Order: sequence, then C-alpha cells, then structure tokens
Amino acid sequence: MTRSQMMGAVHSEDTKPEIVVRRALFQAGFRYRLHRRDLPGTPDIFVQKYGVAIFVNGCFWHQHGCKLTTRPKSNAAFWNNKFDNNIVRDIRTQHQLSLMGIRVAVVWECSLRNDIRHGCRDVSTTPDEVRREPQAENKMGAALTLERLMNFIRGDEETIEL
Ligand SMILES: [Zn+2]
Repeated sequence: MTRSQMMGAVHSEDTKPEIVVRRALFQAGFRYRLHRRDLPGTPDIFVQKYGVAIFVNGCFWHQHGCKLTTRPKSNAAFWNNKFDNNIVRDIRTQHQLSLMGIRVAVVWECSLRNDIRHGCRDVSTTPDEVRREPQAENKMGAALTLERLMNFIRGDEETIEL
C-alpha cells in the first residue's frame, strides 16, 4: 500500500472484516447499532440488548503481532508513534467500557480470513477432523470466530479477543 492509501484506510469505517461480522450477527438475529460516538472508542458494533461492544480490528493498524502486522520501513518514527498511540488508545478504551459495565469483544481481522492461518488461534480447540487437512482448517477460520463471538455475546464473560 502507498502511504496515501494507508491514510485513506484509517478513515474508512466500512472495512470488509467489519461487514463480515455485521452480516453474520444480523443473520443470527442479533440487532445492533454502528459506530456509537457517545461510547468510548466509538465501537464498530454495539449490541444493546447484551451490553456488548465489538471492535473489528485491522491487524496492521492495531499491531496485532500476527503475520499481517508489518511496520513500514520509511517514515519509521512517524508510524511507530502512530501505532503506539493506537495501542494505548485501545487499552484505555476497553478499560473505560468495562467501567461502564459494557462487555468488550475484539475481533482481529486475521481471525476472519480463510486464506491465512489465524495468528493467535489456540490449536488445541481446533477439532481433529479439521486439523488434519490444512485447507479445511483455514475454511473453518471465520466460521469458528463468528461462532465464538456469538457465544460470548450470549454469555457472561467480560471480555474476549478472537
Ligand atoms: Zn492478526
């Protein structure tokens, strides 16, 4: 990506991974509000009935640490500063929401992609029949993530990172 493309991406709210999550939730019967600016961090998705804020994080912008996480070599100081600010802001936002009694789910972009292995997947939770065949495992990526997200929404855990 060129720098101007990257800057453009910062401001785009309807990123594709977010739409994947929205569509799945809607089809499963969840109703939600988008980008509520009156809540800390302007959550991508807010499921009022369950008091759950969902952030669909781009691995690059939020520096996930997976294989989608790169740091540009040019203007390194500029980017490092920007990324560090993003990371600090994410932590502060989650804390503020927790204090308000809002449960927080962070869904990483890579966990919704079926063409790469999810960087932080706990392999022990992957069913045997899926684990044998790498391609099948990848296909389970987004489906498993969305299923776990919905279980979280209906459950009572305070936070989850997928
Ligand atoms: Zn990632």
